[in-house]
Amino acid sequence: MNRVQIGELAWPVYAEKVKNGAIALIPVGALEQHGPHMSMNPDVLLPTAISERVAANIDGLVAPAIAYGYKSQQKSGGGNHMPGTTSLDGSTVTCIIRDVLKELARHGVRKAVLVNGHYENSAFITEGVDLALRELRWDDIPDFRCIILSYWDFIDQETIDAIYQGDFPGWAVEHGGVLETSLMLHLHPDLVDMRLVHDHPPATFPPYDFFPIKPEWTPSSGCLSSARRASAEHGQLILNVCVDGISAALKTAFD
Ligand SMILES: [Zn+2]
Repeated sequence: MNRVQIGELAWPVYAEKVKNGAIALIPVGALEQHGPHMSMNPDVLLPTAISERVAANIDGLVAPAIAYGYKSQQKSGGGNHMPGTTSLDGSTVTCIIRDVLKELARHGVRKAVLVNGHYENSAFITEGVDLALRELRWDDIPDFRCIILSYWDFIDQETIDAIYQGDFPGWAVEHGGVLETSLMLHLHPDLVDMRLVHDHPPATFPPYDFFPIKPEWTPSSGCLSSARRASAEHGQLILNVCVDGISAALKTAFD
């Protein structure tokens, strides 16, 4: 396969691809517990795998993933009190995004895609993009353009129905559930142990956040819904839908 990871290229090869207008994809993840049955790096591995396949389809490039993300929130990631979860302040996430985008622009990249793998990152990615575009205008680079996406938004209703059979709990409580576990079973089966899945109903929360958090709101597994129905076959299906959908979107979105 044509190499797409920027870090694996020699600079003249990279420079040539950039000169030819390659789109740069940047996976943005987190180091966050994902239950007793799975490693703590799905938010990095999954957007990276998707980005690499999309880049192969569109002759694009993939920047090294940002391996830390914004603080895990109790109602979407179990909470930042869990062992292992290692998070950044929002302003740090914003500055990393801004700095990486400005560097890519300095190389000549003019189209970038932030591929988010961690729910809580969204607003800080948006802020980083906004600051980068503003500062690039000051630097007389007015034509740099960005797309921000979360890969799960490309999973269509037909796929949701096929996988969840009417029991879709919503993406926010999918943390460590069927979606991520299925993708990991397909892509990195050595990092999942289905024997350790805690089977419990989706977590329920009041319609507000409380700080300092009440740890007892989070299921003891750290997952917000059960991964019992996860399978490698579901993972393959989800991966294909995401890669096809994102590839198709990127072929027209920058026109
Ligand atoms: Zn996750």
